[in-house]
Amino acid sequence: MIASLPDYLLSDEERMVGDLAEEFARAEIEPVAKDYDENPRFPHEICEKAREVGLAGMTIPPEYGGPGGTSLAQVVATEKLASACAGITAALSLNNLIAKTLLIAGNEEQKREYIGRLLSGEYGAFALTEPAAGSDVGAIRTRAVRRGDEYVLNGSKVWISNASVASFFVVFAKTDPDAGYRGISAFLVERDNPGLQVGKPLPKLGQKAAPACEVFLNDAVVSRSSLLGSEGEGFFIAMGLFDRSRPMVAAMAVGLSERCLRESLSYAVERRSMGKPIIEHQAVGHKVAEMAMRTQSARLLTWHSAILLDRGRKNTLEASMAKAFAADTAMWAATEAVQVYGGMGYSAEYPVEKLFRDAKLLQIYEGTSEIQRNIIVRELTKYSVKEGG
Ligand SMILES: Cc1cc2nc3c(=O)[nH]c(=O)nc-3n(C[C@H](O)[C@H](O)[C@H](O)COP(=O)(O)OP(=O)(O)OC[C@H]3O[C@@H](n4cnc5c(N)ncnc54)[C@H](O)[C@@H]3O)c2cc1C
Repeated sequence: MIASLPDYLLSDEERMVGDLAEEFARAEIEPVAKDYDENPRFPHEICEKAREVGLAGMTIPPEYGGPGGTSLAQVVATEKLASACAGITAALSLNNLIAKTLLIAGNEEQKREYIGRLLSGEYGAFALTEPAAGSDVGAIRTRAVRRGDEYVLNGSKVWISNASVASFFVVFAKTDPDAGYRGISAFLVERDNPGLQVGKPLPKLGQKAAPACEVFLNDAVVSRSSLLGSEGEGFFIAMGLFDRSRPMVAAMAVGLSERCLRESLSYAVERRSMGKPIIEHQAVGHKVAEMAMRTQSARLLTWHSAILLDRGRKNTLEASMAKAFAADTAMWAATEAVQVYGGMGYSAEYPVEKLFRDAKLLQIYEGTSEIQRNIIVRELTKYSVKEGG
């Protein structure tokens, strides 16, 4: 960590979780990150070890078998893990998102069964996006038709993270196609449902340890007890989840920015041009200074959005601010890190080329940077109307 952490905000337990994640990142992730990037595969062993040391399912409450950590602890830990590899961290963290979905919307039986399965080492996947509908959630076309005590699901999903290893899916489908986003419902669908097929992991630019696949539903029959929440609540479940998951994606972006800062600083101090270390050329030194400022700003926004969650306060505005600012900072920092490295920045032999590829996704998933700004302005407008100014 280069700039001092605002760690006076952390409890002893949160600080310990951060230290554990830092140690884990250095020992278990950093040494193998390049290999997972060059030979893309799911990091089963790392996920298993993370589970053993208590870095998986961190915020699952004790009544469901988890450690009951705070969201702040989770963002602190996520930042450390992602500074070693954003792809491995994404693969590892997705179960948290599934657990949070269950905690928001599941009934007691669903929470006990599915959270228990996640804690025992199974994986879940979150299937919302479709080929014709990503940002426009209300436009999804997957249908769930009620037939007695069952629903029949038909449609296709794309870019579903961890689908290749998931043993169950949270699938969003329209139960009332005329009701727009109010007609969406969420279902738990088992991997072995004969109507569900998973495609091969899609080739992609970065975060290669985290597979993302197409998922097809062809007359997938599920029982009524697979419905999460009530019919028509799907959109609200997804939005409630994003308030909780965006601080975590923001934390990944902070970790990646911090890594860009670390790599840029150490290279710029060593590399010489025109008789002096390049850090002494103001054009280079200022890039590093700017990286430090923006990374710390992103961190503070991220921690704030998590602290609001822990205090039970609404954080929609703050989670979007953190996610957009941190993701844009990560992409900017990675671009500048490549520039600081010059030709070597373009080489796969040096770490910044991977950081550049990994960063881009942070501006896309969990709501693009444009969608975050739409949310920010919508929330600000609400405030302005309420305050009459
Ligand atoms: C590797 C990867 C993993 C993913 N994992 C998952 C997952 O596990 N589960 C899941 O459900 N989804 C997942 N996604 C999907 C991801 O959330 C979507 O790709 C994202 O929300 C954008 O949707 P889209 O791709 O349809 O782009 P579009 O919605 O078509 O957007 C295209 C462009 O238009 C802009 N745009 C669209 N609408 C607006 C608007 N109203 N205002 C301003 N700009 C707009 C967007 O910002 C973007 O720049 C993943 C995606 C990737 C690439």
